[in-house]
Amino acid sequence: MTGPIRSTCPYCGVGCGVLVRKTDTGVAVSGDPDHPANFGRLCSKGAALAETLGSEGRLSEPLIAGRRAGWDEALSLVARRLSDTIAAHGPDSVAIYGSGQMLTEDYYAANKFMKGFVGSANIDTNSRLCMASSVAGHVRAFGSDTVPGLYEDLELANLVVLVGSNLAWCHPVIHQRLAAARAARPGMRVVVIDPRRTATCDLADLHLPIAPGSDAAVWNAVLAAIDARGLAHWRDRLSGYAEAVEAARASDPAAAGVDLSGFIDLWCGAERVVTVYSQGINQSDSGTDKVNAITNCHLATGRIGRPGMGPFSITGQPNAMGGREVGGMANMLACHLDIANPRHRAAVQSFWNSPAIAAAPGLKAVDLFRAVEAGRVKALWVIGTNPTVSMPDADRVARAIATCDLVIASDIVETGVTRRADVVLPAAGWGERSGHVTNSERRISRQQGFLAPHGAAMPDWKIIAGVAQRMGFAGFDWPDADAVFAEYKTLSGIAGAQGGDFDISALTDEAPALWPQSPLRRGGRFFGDGVFHTPDGRGRMIAVIPQRQEVGMRLNTGRVRDHWHTMTRTGRAARLSAHIAEPFLEIHPEDAARIGLQPAMLAEVTSPGGRAVLRVLVTQRVAPGQPFAPIHWTDRNSAAGRVGALIAARVDPVSGQPALKEAGVVIRPY
Ligand code: SF4
Repeated sequence: MTGPIRSTCPYCGVGCGVLVRKTDTGVAVSGDPDHPANFGRLCSKGAALAETLGSEGRLSEPLIAGRRAGWDEALSLVARRLSDTIAAHGPDSVAIYGSGQMLTEDYYAANKFMKGFVGSANIDTNSRLCMASSVAGHVRAFGSDTVPGLYEDLELANLVVLVGSNLAWCHPVIHQRLAAARAARPGMRVVVIDPRRTATCDLADLHLPIAPGSDAAVWNAVLAAIDARGLAHWRDRLSGYAEAVEAARASDPAAAGVDLSGFIDLWCGAERVVTVYSQGINQSDSGTDKVNAITNCHLATGRIGRPGMGPFSITGQPNAMGGREVGGMANMLACHLDIANPRHRAAVQSFWNSPAIAAAPGLKAVDLFRAVEAGRVKALWVIGTNPTVSMPDADRVARAIATCDLVIASDIVETGVTRRADVVLPAAGWGERSGHVTNSERRISRQQGFLAPHGAAMPDWKIIAGVAQRMGFAGFDWPDADAVFAEYKTLSGIAGAQGGDFDISALTDEAPALWPQSPLRRGGRFFGDGVFHTPDGRGRMIAVIPQRQEVGMRLNTGRVRDHWHTMTRTGRAARLSAHIAEPFLEIHPEDAARIGLQPAMLAEVTSPGGRAVLRVLVTQRVAPGQPFAPIHWTDRNSAAGRVGALIAARVDPVSGQPALKEAGVVIRPY
């Protein structure tokens, strides 16, 4: 390594650029001042990246039934067993469950393998748990899964509304950018809508601690006011306006449990308004409706796709967006082409020169593991994720995996899946692999390798290609990751020719690049011209009927500032674990007194699905009946603190995204 290597942080969807320099003791990681997502900033997790490298706990060789094996033996065995399974039970008896940690090249290889050659769309990822409702909401409203705006819109807005998003802890660099913009423009206003008082509320002019699940009622109240005040300037460019307003008028704003009038005045009065939303909206059994309740307000007023205006879904993982672009979920094809469209399927199959193409959507995450449980999926390949922790009903998922005929696990460390797997394939981790990621504002950046892979580890695209070639599939003989990306870019050009919005075929520069790059969309925003990707070019309003809210003790879940997902990387840095060292339960003083809990005691939290034991933190940050627990602790570092097993697998009927944000629980002293 001579000069610094440019790469990106592997954690959240902000997609910060980093510079990696070699030092006498290892490497040093700093923020890239030239990267347009962060301009040199990093949060605590990104700043500690160098401390999370190292070989401790890494998988270093392929394993077959627990014994060490060479790559050829392991890949040949996987190829033979998958071929046998397909021959005996058909393509849909095979499934891949992947991750938003996969690079675009990995996603591309996995989707080409499954949809084009195995012939099944049974490939879903943990992105289903993160933003599937945003995808579905975008498609319903805009006719395509297109994020309309950019990060800089938060800085240009006069009002930024953060809904179900603890930006300060979950997307800290965007929070830093927002805080800096607000300091520079004192007239700017920030509103946080969240049942819990989070760290993000410190930046807010107004915090609305709404009743859990009442978001649709809030946004319906805003829409009714927009209509009543004559602010629906775009109603003639939209379909479904009258029905959406009728539903909005019929819904009860009192369901929010707080006075909305000040907020409604702010929202209606601010032309430049950005509504940022995250898992508090998406992770719900009516998440798609909630997304559309927000997009309705922006569509009606025309506050979309122009500087400082728009609904903005901010994603969890570093490459959840790249996965969406590749078609990395069970109901997508590739490059924003439609799996249900025969013309699109034929174009992709022809480009891949593949023997088959999946003709219908495959199994979404919850259904996929139910099919494993029922024995319909007989061969499961899990890549870069641990569903025995992160899925709802996690214990049931673990039991299902334990009964599956063939389990293949590609990962960097041991997990609940690798322990059960018939074949374990060691994957290259951050710093050991190169490829591309797309952040929440559609900016494609390069993640760059600067270390030799640990042991015999290989990048995921290469592992998948190795299996595909051994199954006799042609078109997987890429010499390197650049060749995979080049093929993907060419396919995106074919998608563009089909009228799709995702065409990066002209992308040449290695610098971070926003799409679209066409002159028609200069500035990188969508829909500011009032033209949408629907067949009639109109934006679609959706009539949203708020769902009944659950009552009783409802556990709310979320992240802490310094850990990422199941802590496979952040758990290695002592200073990150120092912020919050153990799993905890935030509980209101009234609940604590009634249950007999004192600060720092242990509490047992149970639901029909499982049990967790958590340290009690008595606080007014949460309301009575709304305790909170973080999601990060796992079967590796604190089995008792694992909350995934508590959560029932209720899903949004449109997107298939599970309601991971909350669970009905019983709490007692431990
Ligand atoms: Fe990494 Fe996200 Fe922090 Fe940026 S904000 S340094 S991408 S974790």
